[in-house]
Amino acid sequence: MTVQAVLDEVRERPGAGDVIPIFDPSTEEQITEFTDCGVDAVNDAVARAKASAESGTWSGLPDDERAKILWRVGDLIDQNAALLAELEMLNGGMYPAQAEMQVKIGAEWFRYYAGWCTKIDGIARDVTTGGLTGVTSHMHAYTLREPYGVVGLIFPWNGPVFNFCAKLAPALAAGCNSVVKPAEETPLSAHVLMRILAEAGVPDGVANMVNGYGHTVGAAITAHPDVEKVAFTGSTEVGRAIVHASAGSNLNKVTLELGGKSPVLIFDDAKLKKAIPASAFGTFVHSGQACVCGSRILVQRTVYDQVVEGMAAVANAMKMGGPKEEGVMSGPLISQKQLTRVLGYLEQGRSDGAEIVTGGHRLDRKGYFVHPTVVTNLDPDTSRLFQEEIFGPVVTILPFDDEDEAVALANNSTYGLAATVWTKDLGRSHRLAKRLAAGTVGLNCAFPYDHSMPFGGYKQSGWGHESGKAGIEGYLQTKIVWAQM
Ligand code: NAD
Repeated sequence: MTVQAVLDEVRERPGAGDVIPIFDPSTEEQITEFTDCGVDAVNDAVARAKASAESGTWSGLPDDERAKILWRVGDLIDQNAALLAELEMLNGGMYPAQAEMQVKIGAEWFRYYAGWCTKIDGIARDVTTGGLTGVTSHMHAYTLREPYGVVGLIFPWNGPVFNFCAKLAPALAAGCNSVVKPAEETPLSAHVLMRILAEAGVPDGVANMVNGYGHTVGAAITAHPDVEKVAFTGSTEVGRAIVHASAGSNLNKVTLELGGKSPVLIFDDAKLKKAIPASAFGTFVHSGQACVCGSRILVQRTVYDQVVEGMAAVANAMKMGGPKEEGVMSGPLISQKQLTRVLGYLEQGRSDGAEIVTGGHRLDRKGYFVHPTVVTNLDPDTSRLFQEEIFGPVVTILPFDDEDEAVALANNSTYGLAATVWTKDLGRSHRLAKRLAAGTVGLNCAFPYDHSMPFGGYKQSGWGHESGKAGIEGYLQTKIVWAQM
């Protein structure tokens, strides 16, 4: 399949709502469009998934058969890697190495969860109990791990292939049927991935994609009485709306992977040659549009000036550009909306008296590019730049004097997705791993990640976990069976 064929097929998908234009964010040119599928199409998709759940087409398949199909999905992603990477670059603004890496990880999600299909099990116990009646009896008890019938899978634009695979792989491994909604900004790679699922042997009706806006299609999924579970990745604001929808409909279960404003603590004994470039990469990568970006840097006062200078130097040296340009290290923001939002934050910071050390402006060229920006002189209690998730290439840097002050500043946030500590003091690093209110803590490393380890947020950064064993657990319910012996 060619990129042009994908653009044409997406344009021709039937719909019932608004026509939504799709852009190349590095040129601002419209590349295709699609029609919001509307609520009736969501109802049809849920009905197909429910019929599939009731027939047991997927959950009733022998575990090793499901595993083979998922493994094939991984292999087909590899075989289509060039096309998928091209779409991530064109539609998602990624540079080549980044797009290729995301696709590679996507394939690995499926191979990792293929292995779990044959390892879903419960517990069994012989129990002698008085129960609630007080009459002693001998029982055999065991648990069954059963997939949810229909799950809603909703995800954002900042890693279209990654997010699709992170949700579909464990949901399919568990035996769930799904209604899948990619972000309205980036529907292209999901279109190819759905074809790959079919080609690998995932039966009709098991995974059903719907396309459209969040307030139309997304909201219809979350409010649907037959959707038993919603797994969502996106902003905290929409996560809250999804919880409200669950409370207002059928109390469907919810897993949330939400926003972050992650602190990076740099102590004066840290290897600054490593800590500075890693922290710069960890916040400016993908123009700051990654949930785990370390966007609040906290530096021990003795090395504060050196770190601010170093971060500004990396920011200034960072080559921004479109995927076809030479030597690009970071791409554009995803949309005009995101550009307006990021520039609005910078304007607000300026009027609050923040010091923009470097950046703070749009690049003088086509595309939604903002110069990597370093900001200091902020009030941590009142500054929106320090407190809110900007989702742009903007890092705030503040000084601290000692460990207690560093922890207080780091934990001064409603978010708790990730944190990083740079120090050579082994005791301090492990002490801080316990004191920091974050779902992931990196000690002397930025962006730690592997499929085999769980990932999830503290505080308003999420509910539940994805990835690892915890990832498949999120798609399974537990039934307890008691047998009188
Ligand atoms: P978003 O919350 O605006 O949208 C995410 C998805 O939800 C989209 O598909 C959107 O159409 C849909 N949606 C919007 N309103 C909805 C509603 N009322 N009901 C149901 N669905 C609705 O997020 P975004 O702007 O696309 O992505 C950026 C956000 O995602 C950032 O906050 C980022 O931190 C977060 N994110 C978190 C993780 C994580 O693992 N914690 C990973 C990636 C991105």
